[in-house]
Amino acid sequence: MIIDAHAHYGHDYVFDEDNFEDALLYWSDKNCIDHAIVQPSIPRPYLEETMKIHDEIYKLCNNHNGRFFGMASIHPHFRPDEYEVELVRCIRKLGFVGVKISPIGHAAHPALESCMHIYEICSKLNIPVMIHTGAGMPFADPLHLVKPAIAFPKVKFILAHAGTDTMSTAALFAAESCKNIYLEPSWLNIYSLKSAIDSIGPERIMFSSDMPMNIPVELAKYRTVTDDKAILDQMLYKTANEVFQLNLSNT
Ligand SMILES: [Zn+2]
Repeated sequence: MIIDAHAHYGHDYVFDEDNFEDALLYWSDKNCIDHAIVQPSIPRPYLEETMKIHDEIYKLCNNHNGRFFGMASIHPHFRPDEYEVELVRCIRKLGFVGVKISPIGHAAHPALESCMHIYEICSKLNIPVMIHTGAGMPFADPLHLVKPAIAFPKVKFILAHAGTDTMSTAALFAAESCKNIYLEPSWLNIYSLKSAIDSIGPERIMFSSDMPMNIPVELAKYRTVTDDKAILDQMLYKTANEVFQLNLSNT
C-alpha cells in the first residue's frame, strides 16, 4: 500500500498553481498510489473561500470511496473563534484527518500566538498538524516547531518538506529533539533523506509528493535509499496510517 500524505486541490493564489482532480488521479493511478491526504491549495484569505475549498475536497473524498482523506488549511490570522469553528466543522462534519499551516503562504510564525492557538485545538480534537518548512525563512525555520512540540506533547507535528535542502539539518535536529515531530521529505535531496532515516528511523518519516507529477520522483528516492521492504512499507504507508489514524489495513 502507498499513502501520499501531502497532496493539494484547487487553485493556489500564493504560488499561482493549479492542482485538480485529473492530474491527481492520473499520476496517482500511474504510480499505484492507493490513498492520498488532500489539502487545499491556498485560496484567497476569506472564510467563505476557505469553506468552499474544504467543501470541494469533501466532495472529492466522497466521490472516490475512501481513496482520499481531507486535510484542513485555514488562515491562522482569521479571528480565533472563526478559525476554531471551521476546523471543528472540517474534522467532525467533513471527516478530515488533520490541519495544515503554511508559514510562507499564511504569513504565520509557527511559534507565535495565532499558531499556538491552532495546536491547542489540535490537542482537543486529537489531530496532527502539518507545517510547511524550508522555503520562506525565517518563519519556515523548522526549529520554531521545537517549542510548540514541547508545549503540546500529545500533538503530532509533521514538518512538510523536512526543511528542504537548506534547512534539513535543522528539521532533523527538531525531530531528534522531540519524539512528536515527524518528517515529510517531499522535495528533500536523497542524501538528507538517508540521514533522516538513519537518525530518527522510518517510523517518523512519511512518503509525500506535494504535487502530482512529483509522485514518481519521490518514490524513486525511497526505493533508491533502501530495498528493505519493511523499512519501505513503514515510510510509504504505515507512518501516515498511524499519524492520521486512518485505520487502513493492507489487504
Ligand atoms: Zn504543499
